[in-house]
Amino acid sequence: MSRPSPKERMAIARTKMREQEAAARAKNFKEVNQGLEELAAREEAKRCLECKNKPCVAGCPVAVRIPEFLMKVADGDLAGAAAILREDNALPATTGRVCPQEKQCEQVCIRGKKGEPVAIGWLERFVADWAARNMEPPKPPAVKTGYHVCVVGSGPGGLTAAGELARMGHDVTIFEALHAAGGVLRYGIPEFRLPKDIVDREVANLEALGVKIECDVVVGKTITVRQILEEFDACFVANGAGLPVFMHIPGENLKGIYSANEYLTRVNLMGAYLPGSKTPIAKGACAVVFGGGNTAMDGVRTAKRLGSARAILAYRRSHDEMPARAEEVKHAEEEGIEFLFLVAPLEFLGDAKGWVRAVRMQRMELGEPDASGRRRPVPVKGSEFELPCDIGVVAVGTSSNPLLTSTVPELKLNKWGNIEIDANQMTSVPGLFAGGDIVRGGATVILAMGDGKKAAQSMDAYLKEKVERAEDW
Ligand SMILES: Cc1cc2nc3c(=O)[nH]c(=O)nc-3n(C[C@H](O)[C@H](O)[C@H](O)COP(=O)(O)OP(=O)(O)OC[C@H]3O[C@@H](n4cnc5c(N)ncnc54)[C@H](O)[C@@H]3O)c2cc1C
Repeated sequence: MSRPSPKERMAIARTKMREQEAAARAKNFKEVNQGLEELAAREEAKRCLECKNKPCVAGCPVAVRIPEFLMKVADGDLAGAAAILREDNALPATTGRVCPQEKQCEQVCIRGKKGEPVAIGWLERFVADWAARNMEPPKPPAVKTGYHVCVVGSGPGGLTAAGELARMGHDVTIFEALHAAGGVLRYGIPEFRLPKDIVDREVANLEALGVKIECDVVVGKTITVRQILEEFDACFVANGAGLPVFMHIPGENLKGIYSANEYLTRVNLMGAYLPGSKTPIAKGACAVVFGGGNTAMDGVRTAKRLGSARAILAYRRSHDEMPARAEEVKHAEEEGIEFLFLVAPLEFLGDAKGWVRAVRMQRMELGEPDASGRRRPVPVKGSEFELPCDIGVVAVGTSSNPLLTSTVPELKLNKWGNIEIDANQMTSVPGLFAGGDIVRGGATVILAMGDGKKAAQSMDAYLKEKVERAEDW
């Protein structure tokens, strides 16, 4: 197959993603990005320069062989591209949609030095969607090891570990506390960014590999970690960091104020986004969402879609410090989301019936950098003002839920309650591994997946060593 010369590759401009028009999409929950056509995808893949040292692969926490799958796309061998993705990435249709590529693979893409990087994420999504339409689900391995392993939590960390372990021939059971699998992919990230049928599809592919998922099992309550370690040969804990953090300001308990976790769970997991849904959720003319990350962005864009004429994002730093994905910020701006930068809430004010009617805020300015390296917001004296609102959504972070960890006294935790692990993802309890947000604090989908992949390799080695130890006796 003849491939374009480097000069010809350099002459190809980055493709554009088809999107729902902004005014229309701000009123519906259908996916914003519409995917690439095959011809556009093949042209885009040809922009890859096939660099020798492959910085994009090093920039990907699950080390997807990016140039290899891109060249398959360029050649029109989409089944070949999908086979590579399936080997390297358990959830390609998800990461192709939600990964912050601009901070990972695309950030280090050599094409980005002179112009725009290759649209790696969009191509990953294209191939994963093509595979779903045209390929059979993956098959379980023919040879089984006879080991039984358990995974706690079905978010991206748990699903990835489960998929890897199943492909190695282990018998894998996931225990999930909620009634549906997916973790934040299902209950946090809205339909307009990651449709539920995509999550269903990715989960079904793992089930096709032999992964068993038992929902409505709260580890620490329904079953203890000790029982799991007696019943299974090893266990990977990826129960996330789903405990909401509040701002602890007066009035935070007024009606109409939600943690982002609850707000998004009502909409996504409990279906409040569906037409005619009976799920209770407050709707109002003016919603204010506090925070600057992906969760805040999802909250404010959701409020707009639920009918708030004004949907405002209030952030205590400035535009450039917002940790949210660049694409979400751009989409939110286009959809008419209002941004209030350098402000911090002081107090929520209520009406006679106990509903929020306004938030009292103060302006901030940026001072010296803090521990995170970002400039610390400092209050501006005498700058207080009142902003009328009837919905408030607090999206200032989450922390680890002690429900599981508190039941295992020998489990070493750090001062924030996150599980401590060694270089092989093993915790202080032999046979118990951990990864994702419960180890890192709120991080990203792909970092949780990277942990799951690494843990699966370590667990496999641990199980093999267990046999050797037993044979030595
Ligand atoms: C609204 C929102 C939007 C986000 N957007 C992005 C984005 O665009 N891109 C990105 O990269 N990252 C994003 N993130 C962050 C990302 O989703 C997380 O970093 C990632 O999901 C962490 O994966 P995890 O597997 O560690 O945990 P989770 O996804 O949190 O999954 C943990 C699972 O464990 C289950 N569980 C908890 N306790 C127990 C128990 N005791 N027993 C059994 N099961 C239990 C939970 O129900 C859950 O299903 C977002 C986060 C949020 C909240």
